[in-house]
Amino acid sequence: MDTLASPSETQKTCLSAKQSSRTIGLVPTMGYLHEGHLALVRRARAENDLVVVSIFVNPTQFGPAEDLERYPRDLVRDLALLTEENVDVVFTPDVSGMYPEQPATFVEVPGVSEVLCGASRPGHFRGVASVVTKLFNIVQPDRSYFGQKDYQQTIVIRKMVRDLNIPVQIIICPTVRESDGLAMSSRNSLLGPHDRVKASQLILALKKGEAALLNGERDPLRVAGAIRGLLAETREIFVDYIEVVDAEDLKKKSGISDKDRVLLALAVRIGGVRLIDNLVVNVSS
Ligand code: AMP
Repeated sequence: MDTLASPSETQKTCLSAKQSSRTIGLVPTMGYLHEGHLALVRRARAENDLVVVSIFVNPTQFGPAEDLERYPRDLVRDLALLTEENVDVVFTPDVSGMYPEQPATFVEVPGVSEVLCGASRPGHFRGVASVVTKLFNIVQPDRSYFGQKDYQQTIVIRKMVRDLNIPVQIIICPTVRESDGLAMSSRNSLLGPHDRVKASQLILALKKGEAALLNGERDPLRVAGAIRGLLAETREIFVDYIEVVDAEDLKKKSGISDKDRVLLALAVRIGGVRLIDNLVVNVSS
């Protein structure tokens, strides 16, 4: 496995793979890897000749009051895990390598970036779309792998790729969960033991919303109310948002019809840690 910090060296390695007709799969991450990340890596390994995993905690997607400084990191452990998965290249740029000068060029995807997490994290998806574009230009992957855990991110990236004709296939993998249903996240490591127990309510709340939908509830506000009700039973889960929106365009719906695909999405703060989760429900099922 090659560990490369230099964008130009990584680009050279990837270009020479492409020139010998090898397919490239890219898994962008911020490191502190868990089974959710590794599921993406395994899928990439199964589908491509060259697997590139990037590890970069991208400062431009963090707001000034957010957790950039305390975002968990453990490069040694990450590299050991990726060696086990037979990854070919790990791209680990530092901030000055990715941003040698103040960037003036950004990729913005208004609309789908402005709701849900975008509403409470202004500039977040601009940072994500811009750094993913840089990664696509450096690695030139045939396929890139993203988790449903960050559902809105997948919608933003897909829209960006379509709008800009970026020649990459975006592959979305299901959310990997702990045994109690908590979606795996690097940020889970920041939770104290009591808060970790509270965090297991998130999936139960989403399932409550799903059950309401499947039992015939068609008012999105009442579905969101069912989710909110369950979370309210646990003290000190601070809700950022609970949204019931169209799963394709993330738009609010006045009513839900039987053939809709609906996204139930939430963001909360528990013990100062921001957690997100979601479920996609095919109402007809
Ligand atoms: P991150 O390191 O949190 O930026 O995540 C890197 C990639 O892994 C993103 O595409 C995430 O959606 C994905 N990912 C993170 N957690 C999970 C999970 N629990 N299940 C599946 N994919 C995940």
